[in-house]
Amino acid sequence: MSDFVANLVKRVKPSATIAVSMKAAELKRAGKDVIGLGAGEPDFDTPDHIKAAAIEAINNGQTKYTAVDGTPELKQAISDKLLRENHVAYQANEIIVSCGAKHSISNLLSAVINPGDEVIIPTPYWVSYPDMTLLAGGESVIVETNSDNDFKLTPSQLAKAITSKTRLVMLNSPSNPTGKAYTPDELQALGEVIAENPHVLVATDDIYEHIYWGHEPLANMVALIPELRDRTIIINGVSKAYAMTGWRIGYAAGPEAIITAMRKIQSQSTSNPCSISQAAAAAALNGPQDCLVTMQKAFKQRHDYLVKALNELPGMTCGAGNGAFYAFPDVTAVVAQLDGVNDDVALATWLLEEAGVAVVPGTPFGAPGFVRLSFATSIDVLQSAVARMDAALRPHFE
Ligand code: PMP
Ligand code: GLU
Repeated sequence: MSDFVANLVKRVKPSATIAVSMKAAELKRAGKDVIGLGAGEPDFDTPDHIKAAAIEAINNGQTKYTAVDGTPELKQAISDKLLRENHVAYQANEIIVSCGAKHSISNLLSAVINPGDEVIIPTPYWVSYPDMTLLAGGESVIVETNSDNDFKLTPSQLAKAITSKTRLVMLNSPSNPTGKAYTPDELQALGEVIAENPHVLVATDDIYEHIYWGHEPLANMVALIPELRDRTIIINGVSKAYAMTGWRIGYAAGPEAIITAMRKIQSQSTSNPCSISQAAAAAALNGPQDCLVTMQKAFKQRHDYLVKALNELPGMTCGAGNGAFYAFPDVTAVVAQLDGVNDDVALATWLLEEAGVAVVPGTPFGAPGFVRLSFATSIDVLQSAVARMDAALRPHFE
């Protein structure tokens, strides 16, 4: 059989987070007792008023194509949200709705990258950024952050990484996988470096903005540095905040020329996102917001439980985050202790086989020596997972 797969695709890795979630689901279907802490998706059900809006949309016949870049109602809801919550003003022609924030990012990269352009991606990064960059024809410039700086990019690191080929800087706050978020001062300092480099765009992936319990408010780059409005693309969506991962609605807001280019790409690929999901997303953004508080409280409780419990496991050291729903412990001491387990990737396999707990290794996040555990699941499930890992690990430390 001939090999018909394109060379570029051969260089792309499948999403590690999705691979772990799929593997856990497959093992469960096969009757194995597996606790899946791989998936980065809220366990909560989509709130009822959002579901009701979708049902109403079906009953009203909103089952046809919509404008490629989203319905006027949803774009208005996004514009209102950006003004209300982020204090930035965007018109309909500066907003595009896509099939998830992931799709918005992919459209953005395709819209702005010329072959060989560089995208600056600080570690630990969401697994998809480098491969999406590759698919768009760009080169990832990976900048290593470290625990001394809470795994956050510093202005001097950013300044050093920028070259004449830099096209885009990718920022994600609160971060998947570390849960750390930039303070307004830190974001401002990064923005000042970008402002000094007029050939550089910045994407702010704000998908976890509502899953945040830090002391300082989260800031928006454009609100901090209005002169960056022409070079900032805000990425967000309803997946995480409103427990709507399966509905596939994300969006981008940015300079009209870039949004227009993204719309052109979308018009030749997916066309509009699902009409029914768009009605639901508008209800999410326009409707009561108390569900956000309820879910955020639950995530914070789970975070506090899991971080403490992981630090009590032999060999694991886990820093506290202030957002998202991931714990990201350093497991180098565990790897050093276990015979035949040479790195975080092998440890993830070992935990699946020996403890029946699915976690994502740190390597695909650009952070070898770590693993990621999602706490978007109940405390009971987290407790069982911790008990299993404890039982599997402890004998090796005695
Ligand atoms: N950005 C980050 C950092 C994420 O973790 C995710 C999760 N999938 C996304 C973007 C994309 O979210 P979605 O496509 O579900 O809107
Ligand atoms: N963002 C989530 C995660 O990191 C969902 C899976 C994905 O799209 O990567 O687990």
